[in-house]
Amino acid sequence: MFATSRRSLILSAAVAGAAFGLDKSLAIAAPTRSQQTPDPTRGFVRYKVGDAECTALYDGIWEKAHDPAYFSNATVAETKEALAAAGFTTAFVTIPITVFVIKLNGKLVMCDAGGGDQVQAFNPQSIFVSGRLMANMAAAGIDPKKIETILISHFHPDHIFGLLEKKTNSPVFPNAEIIVPAAEYKFWTDPSMTGRLPKGRRPLAHRIQTVIPIWKNVLPVAGEDEVVPGIRFVSAPGHTAGHTAFHISSGDEQLMISNDAAYVPALCAKHPGWHGAFDQDAALAETSRRKLLDRVVADKMMICGSHFPWPGLGKIAKDGAGYTITVSTT
Ligand SMILES: [Zn+2]
Repeated sequence: MFATSRRSLILSAAVAGAAFGLDKSLAIAAPTRSQQTPDPTRGFVRYKVGDAECTALYDGIWEKAHDPAYFSNATVAETKEALAAAGFTTAFVTIPITVFVIKLNGKLVMCDAGGGDQVQAFNPQSIFVSGRLMANMAAAGIDPKKIETILISHFHPDHIFGLLEKKTNSPVFPNAEIIVPAAEYKFWTDPSMTGRLPKGRRPLAHRIQTVIPIWKNVLPVAGEDEVVPGIRFVSAPGHTAGHTAFHISSGDEQLMISNDAAYVPALCAKHPGWHGAFDQDAALAETSRRKLLDRVVADKMMICGSHFPWPGLGKIAKDGAGYTITVSTT
């Protein structure tokens, strides 16, 4: 089994090399790309939502090379135009990763876990940096051992690999209860599903199936329960089978942590009908995105997302056929 999978890895590397027309000398001569976007000078930002104390923690950034397949119904030129209109570089798509820690009703709750310095960019022209979470948590004065609950939005690597030690898969937060959407858990832990996934997603499914079901502190929750006092799951499927947003309510104030429902707002909120390659079911993702964003507008909530411009907290308004999300950078 091991020999087979090892051989297929070597084979697929060789095939990939052949497909790109690489030879050894070219591979050696290729320049090393490095992160263009500087890390924020302070990797944590704190704000209040009613009595909830929210801390945004910077985990890293994906500087994603342009790819005609990124959206099935928008061109690279349209993507660059939308980025420029929102004031971003057009050299690549800027996708920061932010993790949120919420202190509410005496509980310390972390929302997703970042990429744990273990997420690879699919494209060699892209840069993927993650795993700054723990250092920024320390800088913010948060003791990881005191985190009682971790809410997981979905099982993509940039949201769950921070739960796993790099080489051993040991739990980074062994004492926390990890609450996950039941539909997401069911999808990824079903061994019969692995073969139906695109090849690039199969190692992820394998890693999830090796680890998550044996952890005793993982609790799948179905529906839109109040998973901890003051925080509810909000079902927003499409990005993945069980993708879930988190709704925080305290006093008169509400915050919707939209996670990946509108991942890069300059693209996906402004153009909610664009169908992204990273949305597993793009039509369903669009329906969920519109429903979630309409609710945030109607109820005058604050919004933040895992990949919004750092530090993520923003205001949303309807803007023609789409939405504009304005993120405060302080
Ligand atoms: Zn993500």
